[in-house]
Amino acid sequence: MKKEISRREFMARITAAGFGALVASTTNAWGLEAITNPLATYPNRDWEKVYRDLWAYDSRYTFTCAPNDTHNCLLNAHVRQGVITRIGPTMKYGEAVDLLGNGTSHRWDPRVCQKGLALTRRFYGDRRVNGTMVRAGYKKWYEAGFPRGADGRPPEQYFQRARDEWVRMSHDEGAVIVAAALKNIAETYTGDEGKRKLKEQHYDEATIEATQGVGTQVMKFRGGMPLLGMTRVFGMYRMANSIALLDSHIRGVGPDKAMGPKGFDNYSWHTDLPPGHTMVTGQQTVEFDLNSVEQAKTVVVWGMNWITTKMPDAHWLTEARMKGTRVVVIACEYSATATKGDDVLVVRPGTTPALALGFANVIMQENLYDKEYVQQWTDMPILVRMDTLKYLKAAEVFGGDPAVLKQTFIVKDGEKTPPPIQQTVQNVVPEKLRLEWGDYVFWDAKKNAAQPLTRDDVGKNSKAVDAMLEGSIEVTLADGSKVRCRPVFDLVKEYAAHFTPQTVEELTWAPAAAVQKLARHFAQEPGTTLFALGMGPNQFFNSDNKDRDVFLLASLTGNVGKIGGNVGSYAGNYRTALFNGAPQYINEDPFDIELDETKSARPKQYWRAESAHYYNHEDHPLRVGNALLTGKTHMPCPTKSLWFANANSILGNVKWHYNMVVNALPKIELIAVNEWWWSTSCEWADVVFGVDSWAELKHPDMTASVTNPFLLVFPKTPIPRIFNTIGDIEVYATVASKLADLTGDNRFNDYWKFVREDRTDVYLQRILDHSTNTKGYSFKDLHEKAINGVPAIINSRTTPKNVGYDQLVDATPWYTKSGRLEFYREEDEFIDAGENLPVHREPVDSTFYEPNII
Ligand code: SF4
Repeated sequence: MKKEISRREFMARITAAGFGALVASTTNAWGLEAITNPLATYPNRDWEKVYRDLWAYDSRYTFTCAPNDTHNCLLNAHVRQGVITRIGPTMKYGEAVDLLGNGTSHRWDPRVCQKGLALTRRFYGDRRVNGTMVRAGYKKWYEAGFPRGADGRPPEQYFQRARDEWVRMSHDEGAVIVAAALKNIAETYTGDEGKRKLKEQHYDEATIEATQGVGTQVMKFRGGMPLLGMTRVFGMYRMANSIALLDSHIRGVGPDKAMGPKGFDNYSWHTDLPPGHTMVTGQQTVEFDLNSVEQAKTVVVWGMNWITTKMPDAHWLTEARMKGTRVVVIACEYSATATKGDDVLVVRPGTTPALALGFANVIMQENLYDKEYVQQWTDMPILVRMDTLKYLKAAEVFGGDPAVLKQTFIVKDGEKTPPPIQQTVQNVVPEKLRLEWGDYVFWDAKKNAAQPLTRDDVGKNSKAVDAMLEGSIEVTLADGSKVRCRPVFDLVKEYAAHFTPQTVEELTWAPAAAVQKLARHFAQEPGTTLFALGMGPNQFFNSDNKDRDVFLLASLTGNVGKIGGNVGSYAGNYRTALFNGAPQYINEDPFDIELDETKSARPKQYWRAESAHYYNHEDHPLRVGNALLTGKTHMPCPTKSLWFANANSILGNVKWHYNMVVNALPKIELIAVNEWWWSTSCEWADVVFGVDSWAELKHPDMTASVTNPFLLVFPKTPIPRIFNTIGDIEVYATVASKLADLTGDNRFNDYWKFVREDRTDVYLQRILDHSTNTKGYSFKDLHEKAINGVPAIINSRTTPKNVGYDQLVDATPWYTKSGRLEFYREEDEFIDAGENLPVHREPVDSTFYEPNII
């Protein structure tokens, strides 16, 4: 038998014998002259063990990765000598089931992306926040007893943000400072004296009035993208709700008069909200799980880079294409997704509303539209008065009261809206609105007469089967007068006629022939095309029209609400309504806390929502000339404190950043941040609480998604904390304990009782029990499964999830006045702006006809 030589010996011989020996030795060792069995003479491979050992690990546990990309991957962390050395997919998504035992498939595996694989770089990164950091000047301001000038402003010397030194301290010490600052700010701006100070600081009069002299109104709280952590991130709003207790102490009022602070928005703030969806459907956003693409014959990927941004779901698109789904890509660049396109339209940015109208025009001109769908589901048969430009109301023609509705629950004055799990119909409308909306009218071409149309008359219940869609008609009203009316279809068709293929080519750069060809293709087989839109086009000033126009195209081709034919808008993970029992947690009444874990909470919301856009605009309401366009319900208050978690978007990435840091931030007297990665937001803050990363959460949490069907738990993790951090939820509990010390009110402590007792699961179970999509799940079971790498499937009637399915299958109304997909907007604001029809307008931020403004 030949003697094996080790790699070390091999190298030594080379060095000792020089090149000639190398050749001889190589020839000998590798048997180059007689290759009968090369493996028998291959050098000893024990050195490879070093590399194989790289994969060895001592233990393994699961954690959930949940940035705002909507995927929420449950991952395995491999630990060696106490350090996470490797991250990988659990490969167990195929074992997921829903409450009825319906399963999914292993085609969902592996669920991970390169960013998830590289997360160790983040968990152990040198920008992790270690302990609580307080700005030196801020600490001095606190120690000096929060001195202020006559106008209420703190001396500038204490507020040298981003230039100052940082002082590291315990989380407890940091919480003492934050609690004291919150109390001081609320006291300072309470009463007439508080209003006087705000006036001297030159805030807009309307915003000062909006405070009603209540100091807590100038405090703003924001859990960033709260669906990403139902207790951890949404906890910021629970914290806000508890601040009503502070107001009750400062003003000496009871629960009936106490006011909580303001909670900033997320989805709309990020421009993720496509407002056209709400205008047409009444839904916040319509979308479908991305694996729906397999059920479609055509998918139009519109301003969305599916391959790059929907990483673990990119395969659904490519596999659907292999199975025959036609992929149409509309983008303003040749994107990664464009490489998968059967048809690719590269367009001028911001012009796709014109493209949608161009498609709609071809379809209407050539009579290719799905007439039945239009009659059953859209407002296009409804008559519009040509004298007032308002919908013609049934009461104007037939007199009498609005019809009694079967599919809408009317909430009478003084009654409470039932919580979601007690609602028996999907539509809940206050009586005042029902009376204001009334019913509608269409012209029955067969009967040659006007007919009433109610919210119940949709889908298979639609009476508008023979509705006149084109032309105009003179209708006799109940008082005997006559009014000329036209159906919405006729108005839309006239407008869309401007968008001939040639005009569309000039506007958008999409070839005229392609506009014509694709329009005919979309109409060929109604209900088989998915329109997947990205958030990029949302950034343009005409984004509401973009979505109204896309819905128009989709409705003409029967593509709203079907599993393989629908419209979707994809940005962040926003739909907290997947947990519509969340008020059990975020809005538990701080004056009436339920300390028995077996009982439900009694929600009462004290905090009020405010759009962060006003803060980004130095707390100015929208004034144009002498007109104040911001209404009372949306009037912001001055921002004097801002505490946020889980996002760099409200400060670090804020638009108009220079103005923010130079002019807006100096007016704010407390900026507190919960973070685990030192961001620009931290740089401009006063207090930064270092919190746990996903790898080291000690309090479990949960989330769900708008693009996949999984209900995900963040399991408690066994690894010791990597840095000196605590959970976000513990930060709230700690600050609350300091507020309890300052006010002597133990309800601040009770409010976080189950966090203190390491029983956050009690709050999570309450959310599950009260949410339509999760009632019946046990958090304990979900947690156990997640530890073993298996998620659950959310109960959503269909998998894949699909907004609009209920409407179509059950013939229930959409969440609009007419119960139909509404393309006409009769409100004065829309008529005044010339946008009562879905139109195209050259966007000011993407045009060569105007200076670029952003
Ligand atoms: S796809 Fe998103 S959630 Fe999944 S591993 Fe990557 S970054 Fe994490």
